Amino acid sequence: MLLPELRANVLTTARKMVADGLAYGAQGNVSARDPDSGLIGVTPSAIQYDQMTAEDVVIINTHGQIVEGRWKPTSETPLHTIFYRERSDVGAVVHTHAPYATTFAIVGEPIPMVLAEAALCIGGPVPVAPYRRPSTQELAQVMLETVGQGVSALLAHHGLITVGPNLELAYAATIAAEISARLVIMARSINAHPIELDADEVTALRQMYLHYYHAQAADA
Ligand SMILES: [Zn+2]
Repeated sequence: MLLPELRANVLTTARKMVADGLAYGAQGNVSARDPDSGLIGVTPSAIQYDQMTAEDVVIINTHGQIVEGRWKPTSETPLHTIFYRERSDVGAVVHTHAPYATTFAIVGEPIPMVLAEAALCIGGPVPVAPYRRPSTQELAQVMLETVGQGVSALLAHHGLITVGPNLELAYAATIAAEISARLVIMARSINAHPIELDADEVTALRQMYLHYYHAQAADA
């Protein structure tokens, strides 16, 4: 079996996504790129994550063609592969239907930066992309454009995507977006106005985080 460790990491993240209440059953999808071969491990289509094994993770190339696997890759494969083709810094993609973040996606409002932790992991408000139909190339394209050089964006009427150099950081951005969205909704529910972090401070925090991450990566 190709890339057992990569497959295991994809499976672990997919299960975390369900355990953390960010996706139900077989919803959402996760992928990661092997830095040596450039091959991608991605969750299969329509298999419940609690029944999935590492062998069920599909190995594909950056054009979405199956290299090894017994199932079809997720129907959202174009949404994953476009980031691997267009951004060499992306090593993992996480797409969830995180409920609080998705609340912002249904009202067409960006998730503001109200937490220092989110500023570190995400580096700016989470923008909302224009609506495109799920599983299409058009959706992949509009998400690539909306994420830009950042790490996250909301899919209108659908969910959230985060990217990162690895699964750990891509997933940390998902959690930061979801918690921020939840806290903003909670503040509004008591008729209070959440106060956004100063934009310069958000940038400074993000730079600090990237510097720390690169120093760690250089040590490894
Ligand atoms: Zn979805």
